[in-house]
Amino acid sequence: MPSFDPARIALPCAHFIQGQRVTDPSALSVSRPSDGAVYAELPMADANRVDDAVTSAHQAFVRGDWSRCAPRERARIMRRWADLIEADIDYLAPLESLGSTRPIDQTRAWDVPYTAEGIRFFAEFADKHGGEVAATAHDHLGMQIAEPLGVVGAIAPWNFPLSMTCWKVAPALAAGNTVVLKPSEMTPFTAVRLAELAIKAGMPPGVFNVIQGNGPVTGDALCRHPYVAKVTFTGSTVTGRTIMGACAETGPKPVTLELGGKSPQLVFADIPDIDRTAKTLAAAITGNAGQVCVAGSRLLIQHELLEPMIERLSKHFNALTPGPTWQTGGWFSPIISATQLTRIESIVARSREAGAELLGGGERFERNDGGHFYQPTLLHTNDRHNPAVEEEIFGPVLTIQTFESEEEALALAEHDVYGLAAGIHTADLGRALRTVRRLSAGTVWVNRYGRSNDYILPTGGYKRSGVGRDLGRAAFDACLQHKSVLIDLDQ
Ligand code: NAD
Repeated sequence: MPSFDPARIALPCAHFIQGQRVTDPSALSVSRPSDGAVYAELPMADANRVDDAVTSAHQAFVRGDWSRCAPRERARIMRRWADLIEADIDYLAPLESLGSTRPIDQTRAWDVPYTAEGIRFFAEFADKHGGEVAATAHDHLGMQIAEPLGVVGAIAPWNFPLSMTCWKVAPALAAGNTVVLKPSEMTPFTAVRLAELAIKAGMPPGVFNVIQGNGPVTGDALCRHPYVAKVTFTGSTVTGRTIMGACAETGPKPVTLELGGKSPQLVFADIPDIDRTAKTLAAAITGNAGQVCVAGSRLLIQHELLEPMIERLSKHFNALTPGPTWQTGGWFSPIISATQLTRIESIVARSREAGAELLGGGERFERNDGGHFYQPTLLHTNDRHNPAVEEEIFGPVLTIQTFESEEEALALAEHDVYGLAAGIHTADLGRALRTVRRLSAGTVWVNRYGRSNDYILPTGGYKRSGVGRDLGRAAFDACLQHKSVLIDLDQ
């Protein structure tokens, strides 16, 4: 697979409303994490531009050529859309890699095909739900009809721009809603390309719109717009709370919130193959440089395995070489921004001040190309209130805590705020099933870690890690509302 020249990618630097690109005066500089260069100036949608986009989506919904068309027709257009996305990989994969943390090898092998397949997955639901005959009596017939909600406002993060957009947008569209998407202002471009390909596939104008801008101006105006029937959001817990507030004040409107995590990995001394487990643990915190909501960021290990595991993890960490996202060869990802890099440094410093022992890493990679790269870092502490144990870092920082017993492991695993995911590593099936049931986590992996292409399994958070679910039937159902109909049979 070829590397690409970052200067040669055409940027769709625009909103996409009513089937076409729309621009505004540039208001936001967009920079590349791989070399820190500002490579685009982004238009920002103010409240009037947001109103244009939502009105376009509202009119498309009322028009009915998507919301009330034959569901099989919707599914057919979405499948064609997925085919066009795959066929566009030579443009979409570099566009996704360019300003994000996703190396080109991965956007080609995973992000683009995963997004296309996710759209196909949800397209299949379009005609596989129906109403129900709810009650009958001699004089009347009762029916329940499932209908789309209207305009769905979708707000996405920067860590997996394409696939997170798919999670937000595909179930809403398959259910017959129209959508206004605000991508992250740090990774704004592939969403516009997706919307253009949707038009090419036959989706009517106004059904899928994209607005560019930041959270406090553009995102907030989207959440508060009276025509927005629901908001689906992926991002931090703090922003999720703000969005829920805006939706309460201007609604109440339903929300789906996929939020932050601080996911534990429980490793018991009976694991059959420590090398294999070490590889899994290392990948779970270094993939996308730890900028993954479900990153396995808290290692809880039975004490006798502490030393051999540190040795193995250090080897994996030391083998990672940073490199720009546009070069092939499996480079370790950059950190999305200078601000995020400073934040990681600050949490590691506070963690050490609070007594954590630094076992490796702990510094940025010194480079002369301006890229934001942070070393994979190991911190040892048994203080559950240490900042690196409590706070979502969103970087390649792994804390290690030890335990003696299963009960102690479960107590340490419990986080006061987050409950997004967890991993259990053991050869004891009984223990695995016992612990699965006692962990507060929306996803639990046993003897593995990380998603595969299991679109059918819902994903979401316990505790403050989320409200509602993405993926699976649950995500599709959450884009519908139910109407009860009673028909008098005596007339
Ligand atoms: P973020 O919360 O800073 O921003 C996410 C999006 O919300 C961006 O598009 C941003 O512009 C927008 N936004 C910010 N303030 C807003 C406001 N007041 N109103 C409306 N929109 C607003 O998150 P991020 O830094 O982009 O992403 C990282 C976070 O996302 C991490 O906490 C991570 O755990 C979480 N995440 C969760 C999942 C999941 O499935 N649970 C998946 C990926 C990322």
